[in-house]
Amino acid sequence: MKGRKHILVVEDEKHIGTLVKYNLEAEGYRVTLVEDGPTALKLVRADPYAFDLIILDLMLPGMSGYAVCETLRNEKVMVPVLILSARSLSEDRTRGFDCGANQYLTKPFDLDELLARAKNLMRLYPQQSTKPMESANVKLQQIHFGRATINFESYEVFVDDKEVKMTHKELQLLRYFAENEGRVISRQELLTEVWEMSGDMQTRSVDQFMLRLRKIFETDPAKPKHFLTVRDAGYRFVSDGSNSTDATGPLDEVDAAPNP
Ligand code: CA
Repeated sequence: MKGRKHILVVEDEKHIGTLVKYNLEAEGYRVTLVEDGPTALKLVRADPYAFDLIILDLMLPGMSGYAVCETLRNEKVMVPVLILSARSLSEDRTRGFDCGANQYLTKPFDLDELLARAKNLMRLYPQQSTKPMESANVKLQQIHFGRATINFESYEVFVDDKEVKMTHKELQLLRYFAENEGRVISRQELLTEVWEMSGDMQTRSVDQFMLRLRKIFETDPAKPKHFLTVRDAGYRFVSDGSNSTDATGPLDEVDAAPNP
């Protein structure tokens, strides 16, 4: 068992860095504070599972926060990243999420909100389960959920006993969700794990595939019970859709409408 959660704070403004560190430590976390991007990268590369969360500024000496986050994701380091930045434009947020960040909080920020978001992220992305799957040889062969039966070996998909044609990529995506049932999966992770793409590809294409899965498997695609949107975080698959809207926390708000 791991002891206290360890948070890496990357912040070059000393008073903010110190304030964040002090308050996280007061909550019982272990905190490492660094002031530039290259040092942060070096620490995470030395042990990709050393940290439970990274709180990352964007405007940093040496290397931007975007570059730090993107580099980590390209290296398949999936530790949750919360961007904390004075940049408040929606393009900045979008760029942050495209780089693989999980949350974006603008400065000036409310300390309680930062602490709540940090706690949520560590709960949603516990480090042991965000490790890339090592049991790749144990592939899921068949699943049943809702009205559907899927055989991943024969590529046969039945919904209400009617055969449905799905593409290879759609089936790969479905299998990834099934193998990670219940866990919130970011668009970035889907791109990396299912499409094997780096952060360059638009996360929007993931949303198109999600619309397709909902169309095939949901009784009402506008009110999904199995393929849930988790706001600001990604998607979550639940095979038993009967009580899929019981929130496990404020981040688990389910959007009724799929993302545009
Ligand atoms: Ca800065």
